[in-house]
Amino acid sequence: MQSEIAKLAHLQEVEQEIVALTAQRATYPRRVAAREAALRETGRQLEENVKAIAHEVVTRRRLESDIDDLRQKAQRYRAQLEGVQSDGQMKALEHQIAFCRQEIDRLEEVEFASLVQTETLEEQQRKLHETLANLKLALANEEAEARQGMARDEKKQAELAQERSAMRADIEASLLAEYDRIASSRKTAVARVEGQRCSACQMMVRPQRWNEIRQGAAHFCESCGRFLHYDPAVDLTDAMHLPATTKKPVGLAKSTPHSHAAAAGFDHPPRED
Ligand SMILES: [Zn+2]
Repeated sequence: MQSEIAKLAHLQEVEQEIVALTAQRATYPRRVAAREAALRETGRQLEENVKAIAHEVVTRRRLESDIDDLRQKAQRYRAQLEGVQSDGQMKALEHQIAFCRQEIDRLEEVEFASLVQTETLEEQQRKLHETLANLKLALANEEAEARQGMARDEKKQAELAQERSAMRADIEASLLAEYDRIASSRKTAVARVEGQRCSACQMMVRPQRWNEIRQGAAHFCESCGRFLHYDPAVDLTDAMHLPATTKKPVGLAKSTPHSHAAAAGFDHPPRED
């Protein structure tokens, strides 16, 4: 019977691997989509950067034009100074000329700030182009990896599906039905029993059952109802109980070969229905 449990444990491994591969296959398009989103975002930033540079150019053109107007105005005032009739008129014109000069200074400062800003934006643009090129490369790599991964996983999954069918055909029908029943309600139907504990629900196995299991008897977990699979190769209980100086191979202390298992009998699972 234990060899049948070992078959179920193997079947469960295969079925879990199929599920894991399905989950993995779903990650490829998500990863590609994330790269595409990053590429779009950088493209958007680049568009904004180009617009901002164009805006600075327009701003400077307008400033130049305003500065020209002010210069012409100041020139006209200076020309009027020649024919001035009174001190009042003279002062008013000088005031206007001084205002024009101040305003020209102010606008030239704004223009300079715009030039500095343009330099910053151009540096930003250079970096964005670099990022964009890197992201395009990363996307191409991601797409290639996704294609390869998808093909590899599909092939592996097809192999596993075949293995699964073959294994199912090789397991006794009522046992398989029981396995499917438990698996549908608990996700897994077989739990490894290690160190006298069910690895699925962590409940202790009673000492007598534990001894029987290690001698090859098949049991269900009294708590969660899963098939208990004992694999001496991974159970370290006996090794842990041995004195540190003893060089006994792990798991060989008390285990019985699986071929004796069928003779050991099989208990009935706690049914939920
Ligand atoms: Zn359990």
